[in-house]
Amino acid sequence: MARARIPLVAGNWKMNFDHLEATYFVQKLAWLLRDAHFDFKRCEVTLMPSFTSLRSVQVLVQADKLKITYGAQSVSVTNQGAFTGDVSADMLARLGCSYVIVGHSERRKYHPEDDANIVDQVRAVLTAGMQPILCVGESMQERRKGIALDYAVGQVHDVTRDLSDEEASRLVIAYEPVWAIGTGLVATPQNAQDAALAIRNDLTESFGSDVAQSVRILYGGSVSSRNAVELISEPDVDGFLIGGASLDPEELAKICRLT
Ligand code: PGA
Repeated sequence: MARARIPLVAGNWKMNFDHLEATYFVQKLAWLLRDAHFDFKRCEVTLMPSFTSLRSVQVLVQADKLKITYGAQSVSVTNQGAFTGDVSADMLARLGCSYVIVGHSERRKYHPEDDANIVDQVRAVLTAGMQPILCVGESMQERRKGIALDYAVGQVHDVTRDLSDEEASRLVIAYEPVWAIGTGLVATPQNAQDAALAIRNDLTESFGSDVAQSVRILYGGSVSSRNAVELISEPDVDGFLIGGASLDPEELAKICRLT
């Protein structure tokens, strides 16, 4: 049966690859997918390079008319002015970005990004016409306490509560348990499904069923070609946010084919 939501495979490169390596990677991935007759109508593929590589990726995607989309890993909450080191949502939109990761646990940990700041980032991304990939997920501490689902749902709820239905319908949510990120520990397909369903139920309560059914909910945390098939078989898991495994074009192409 065809899926109601087109799955999304998003490669989060984090602080890896300079612009030359990024260019080489995109060429190689595009070549691998073309060779495999990959159908972009069945699954969307997006890459999230560093700010310094975005322009190179844009030029290549445009020149070769690639169907791969791309986005950024974070964004400033203000749009212009005396904010040294910041990059605005408008600047990213002008570079052709489709997505911006918002609230990744590494940003929450190493930068002063709290819920209020994350709300503002989501709004900045939406206002500029892009889609936020909002990351939520519990740490091992919450999981041990048995409050993993409540915690992840609470994070979504706190960030989305003031959005309009139209704004909410443009969200992508990534459920990424912190203990699974970069550790080789993967949530079971049932855990991923339970979290995705709990998040979707909360979206239904806030925004109604049409919006909740249209929002893609990704799983992230040690995704690889070894676990992708089982995870994507779950009805509420609509794709992946991938760190480590997205740094190898062969592995990423394989995950795309399996999704
Ligand atoms: P990982 O990272 O795939 O290396 O676990 C996922 C992420 O941080 O988005």
